[in-house]
Amino acid sequence: MAGSELNVLIDKPQQKDLDRCVHCGLCLNACPTYRELGIEMDSPRGRIYQMNQVANGLAPIGESYIQHLELCLACRACETACPSGVQYGRLIEAARAGIENKIERPAGVRFLRWVVFRNLLPSPTLLRITAVMLWCYQALGLKALARSTGLLKLFGKLGRLEQLSPEAQLPTFFKQYGKVFPAEGKRRYRVALLGGCIANISFARLNEATVRVLQKNGCEVVVPDTQTCCGALHVHQGLRDDARRLARQNIDALTEGGFDAIITNAAGCGSTLKEYHDLFEHDPGYEEKSRKFSNLVKDVNEFLASIDLNTNMSPLKVTVTYQDSCHLAHGQKIRVPPRKLLRAIPGLTLKEMAGADLCCGSAGIYNVLQNDMAMAVLERKMENVNRTGAEVVVTANPGCMIQLQAGACLHGKGQTVKHVVEMLDEAYRGAPSLT
Ligand code: SF4
Ligand code: SF4
Repeated sequence: MAGSELNVLIDKPQQKDLDRCVHCGLCLNACPTYRELGIEMDSPRGRIYQMNQVANGLAPIGESYIQHLELCLACRACETACPSGVQYGRLIEAARAGIENKIERPAGVRFLRWVVFRNLLPSPTLLRITAVMLWCYQALGLKALARSTGLLKLFGKLGRLEQLSPEAQLPTFFKQYGKVFPAEGKRRYRVALLGGCIANISFARLNEATVRVLQKNGCEVVVPDTQTCCGALHVHQGLRDDARRLARQNIDALTEGGFDAIITNAAGCGSTLKEYHDLFEHDPGYEEKSRKFSNLVKDVNEFLASIDLNTNMSPLKVTVTYQDSCHLAHGQKIRVPPRKLLRAIPGLTLKEMAGADLCCGSAGIYNVLQNDMAMAVLERKMENVNRTGAEVVVTANPGCMIQLQAGACLHGKGQTVKHVVEMLDEAYRGAPSLT
């Protein structure tokens, strides 16, 4: 058995959550994997049925069960579609933890997970070293050469995966850790900014733009050096004990910091940060603390749309389309705020695409682990993007940005991909100074 006895008992789908599903099937059409394959066992209803079978000892945690659950994007579109209030996100995360507690993965997989999840993601030092190595690969022109010569095609799936590898941006955002950035004008709020893990090295400029936009809106921005990776990727892989360790560090470091909000610009992180209490249901010491912490967490779109927004912006004459990040739209139920912010930019035209809230196929590291399905989903997404004629695809999650960049490259019409915050930053930077 791979997990402790306590984990086996607590980290599995709870019967009360499973019983909410009345098998109506109203979620099926919202499910990207069901739309692709048309297989009941790869639909939300089918997956819940399988979880129920396992929970009641009627089926084993076998190859088929693992396969159907791993093919789920955990996009939670089914949660939005469900009229019975099934919390599918809770179910799939608990079911994956149940798998990890019961089975022993091959030695190579265990080693890779130990390197990436236990050591790399929570370590600023190792992430910085990774950034330098990635940067050298880029700077030597190897990446460009591999792409331009079509060399990657020779490597099949490996070549496609290279297209999804994040780029390093130096200096990394770790350089800003421990700093306090003053509000522009009168200080209205004091907020903490979470830098993420990979985002610190691959989206350092986005994190800096987030600081600037918050400053423009009267925020004193603190980048605490006591923060760590949020554990979202760990939760998605069923590695709940690792996620708990990281969650405890963030809760202890940030809850009592006197912040009006703890801000993240990554929808995937935000969703997990707001649901930390799910990890501590059986730990009374941390359940209450985690709820207090989660109440302070705000997605940057949510926060900016809720305050009196600084509208001193220069016009951006551009047509954009907005891709809902699943963990913002379905996980956090935030759809209007990013659109409201984009519409506040003068000159900008927002053209909605069909199925904007259907997953792009990124889903954390799903696009690496389930590349074929992720690419099929991405191709559908790009068909809808192309129909809008937009020059820019805007979204609200770094992971989605990488996936959409690959989409624009493979199936697009030269679109660029931006975060909502980057659009605001661009508009603020061109605005006349008021002082
Ligand atoms: S989370 Fe997404 S992929 Fe998984 S069952 Fe629900 S809709 Fe389908
Ligand atoms: S998850 Fe909800 S919508 Fe889907 S079958 Fe169950 S009750 Fe119906």
